[in-house]
Amino acid sequence: MSEVISRKSEGTEYEVVIGLEIHAQLLTDTKIFCGCSTRFGSGHNTQTCPVCIGMPGVLPVLNRRAVEFVVKTGLAMNCTISPYSRFARKNYFYPDLPKGYQISQYELPICGHGYVDIVTDGVERRIGLTRIHMEEDAGKNIHQKDGSLVDLNRAGVPLMEIVSEPDIRTPKEASAFMKKLRAILRYLGVCDGNMEQGSLRCDANVSLRLVGAEDLGTKAEIKNINSFRFVEKALEYEIKRQVNILREGGRIIQETRLWDSSAGITVSMRSKEEAHDYRYFPEPDLVPIEVSREWIDEIRAGLVELPDEKRKRYTEEFGLPDYDAGMLAEERAVAKWFEEAVRLGGKPKAVSNWMMSEFLRLLNETGREISEVPLTPACLVDMLKLMDNGTISGTIAKTVFEEMFHSGKEPGVIVKEKGLVQITDTSEIEKLIDEVLAANPAEVERYRSGETKLQGFFVGRIMKASKGKANPKLVNELLRKKLS
Ligand SMILES: [Zn+2]
Repeated sequence: MSEVISRKSEGTEYEVVIGLEIHAQLLTDTKIFCGCSTRFGSGHNTQTCPVCIGMPGVLPVLNRRAVEFVVKTGLAMNCTISPYSRFARKNYFYPDLPKGYQISQYELPICGHGYVDIVTDGVERRIGLTRIHMEEDAGKNIHQKDGSLVDLNRAGVPLMEIVSEPDIRTPKEASAFMKKLRAILRYLGVCDGNMEQGSLRCDANVSLRLVGAEDLGTKAEIKNINSFRFVEKALEYEIKRQVNILREGGRIIQETRLWDSSAGITVSMRSKEEAHDYRYFPEPDLVPIEVSREWIDEIRAGLVELPDEKRKRYTEEFGLPDYDAGMLAEERAVAKWFEEAVRLGGKPKAVSNWMMSEFLRLLNETGREISEVPLTPACLVDMLKLMDNGTISGTIAKTVFEEMFHSGKEPGVIVKEKGLVQITDTSEIEKLIDEVLAANPAEVERYRSGETKLQGFFVGRIMKASKGKANPKLVNELLRKKLS
């Protein structure tokens, strides 16, 4: 009911139904059916052999590692692993597919019936997964002014396709779902999640139905979306397009559309009438895949702690707010950094606060990844110790932190080099107080006649005069004495 109300208030009588299909390139060293390298960025057609360029008479041999990666992913995403699955030929013609068919999985995929949980605007929702299956990637067409070229380095790179149930309701949820999948894949080390290089890409199915209706509306499929931002933008555009058609009494045509990111619109690529009939049939050159119970158990035993489990543990064990815990757990490298700092004796809450504020700000400003900066967890822990024992104030700590972020120097060295040690000598602080009071006689008069909130004004001036180095607690104590 609340959902109905919220959607009406958004000005639409329609409910949005979205399902995603995510293609993820597996991080195996070699291709799925031959020994060619999968390395990205090598010279055109240098990583090919008769198998992956589709010569007649060759036989594919399945890469065991690819199967292991897909099973691992299936387990991490709460899927049932099929003990028996098989490959199928998906027949179509395209210049980047020299065999004339892609080896994929059809009616017997290796994983099914899973789910992942996502959080948007503080609300957790469970998104079902229909299936995860294995297939080979196609090559790449390179279009030039005077013709087109084909690079087959990518042909035969192992892919998995993760298909969601139509459980997603908003563009924001779609991007949250994609982010969650990417985080899990990166934690597992089965895909690098690099969307710019195309190792993770997404097709989105979207349809509308009247709020409360059971049957699904006619869907449009948006192909090859390669960023989180584009997923949201493409879906927002597509929903508006469909709402407008339906409101004018029109009908949605089942079709495949492309997201044109520069124009900010989706455009029709082909309608259902032109859609391929792939004539799937079982791949006769490969035996069915059998995954034993023992192998599944072995893979399960090797699973790392995943982002959701970490988030839960951080809130329970360290008392962190859910949002902070989620942020720290999202990227494996960030979580590792945080846990290392805690292991070295940093108080979890203090470490988290510095990571969520100053660290995050500096990473955003410099556009760097946590793995690329010289600042180590040990340095942060040392800096926290200097704060705890009164050597530096919180204000000075910010300067020290920024310096550590850029240079990786130890906090003790920075404090020494820059003369940042906190002033705790009372006579020195009293001298600063006297100077500030002498310079502001009117404020002193007002304070003495009852305007005690001016305390903050004086403290600010004194701290500034000490270049942030005076011990704030002593400043407050001594100031109160002087003014009374
Ligand atoms: Zn090959």
